[in-house]
Amino acid sequence: MCQSCLSWSRRRFLGAAAASIGAATLGSGARAAGVGPDEALQRLKAGNQKYVAGPQLCVAELSRTRASLAKSQAPWATILCCSDSRVAPELIFGGLGPGELFVARNAGNIADTDVLGTIEYGAEHLHSQLIVVVGHERCGAVAAACDVVAKGAKLPGSIGKMVAAITPAAEAVVGQPGDFVDNAVKENARRTALAIRQNSEIVAELEHDGKLKIAYARFDLDSGIVDFLG
Ligand SMILES: [Zn+2]
Repeated sequence: MCQSCLSWSRRRFLGAAAASIGAATLGSGARAAGVGPDEALQRLKAGNQKYVAGPQLCVAELSRTRASLAKSQAPWATILCCSDSRVAPELIFGGLGPGELFVARNAGNIADTDVLGTIEYGAEHLHSQLIVVVGHERCGAVAAACDVVAKGAKLPGSIGKMVAAITPAAEAVVGQPGDFVDNAVKENARRTALAIRQNSEIVAELEHDGKLKIAYARFDLDSGIVDFLG
């Protein structure tokens, strides 16, 4: 029996539990047909091209969408990105409005337990069919991890614990040709995407069934381009 069959009952239970959570918090999450993972990826790529070519065109039509979204949501992609103020996901993907992206953010775009739960909610209950981990150029959290690896830097408070989740990516690319921090940004995004797949049975099942894709990318602060790496 495949893993999907084994966990079917559990998924039904999770779905019911998520539905009750959603009704109380994030909206009832009306089941949408979904655009499919490939279409979602194409939308993000086209949106970023629009952002690069003409940022003035990226104006969300807020008044038009507000009423239709007040009681439910059906975001077609999930973005895990850095908290960096320059990485605004709805903008860099073409001026998307409310209801389109399900977003999780923290410094260094790490898939900790809270983020994994958020991503699973987006996939299982809201039927978001694409997950993209977006690292970015000159990421301060990744640069801090590089300083820990290369210089033995000590970080204060909870920052050190947070950055500790990024240091394996920095250690993996230390000494490689090119810019150390930028190499670590890309490696960290790759590892985060892998961690989502490995640590979430829900996501892995949906991906196995062809209902969801996981991608990772690097956002260039200078050009505005999101480069999809895998
Ligand atoms: Zn960052």
